[in-house]
Amino acid sequence: MQVKDCVFCKIIRGEIPSEKEYEDDFVYAFKDINPVAPIHILIVPKKHITGIQSLEKEDTSLVGYMFYVARIIGEKKGVAPCKDMEGGYRLVFNVGRDAGQTVFHLHLHFIAGRSMKWPPG
Ligand code: 5GP
Ligand code: ZN
Repeated sequence: MQVKDCVFCKIIRGEIPSEKEYEDDFVYAFKDINPVAPIHILIVPKKHITGIQSLEKEDTSLVGYMFYVARIIGEKKGVAPCKDMEGGYRLVFNVGRDAGQTVFHLHLHFIAGRSMKWPPG
């Protein structure tokens, strides 16, 4: 299930310290060590999957669940968009090196706390 030398597997096992934001049987979420916004959290499945590029059909519900955890975190952090859609957060999967992926264990970036531009760089 987990990989010996994977940095996020080590974080999940508690071998590397992290600042926990959320945890359940399937997902672990923690503060990014190099935040790009005032709130930058990584939502990571406990199962080692290298990224969206290797997602199997059997794990698609896990990815959907990661988005649900993002919703929970958005509400917990007080950045969920309200009725008029003010506020909000950005959710990002970097898929492969050209897209900026540096850690090859699936993770969803939860980024908030400042206004953001589109398109991203
Ligand atoms: P990627 O570039 O693969 O989409 O995102 C990997 C993210 O993991 C980066 O934003 C990077 O700052 C973060 N990261 C890498 N190593 C660690 C670590 O040991 N602890 C924490 N908390 N974040 C890490
Ligand atoms: Zn891993």
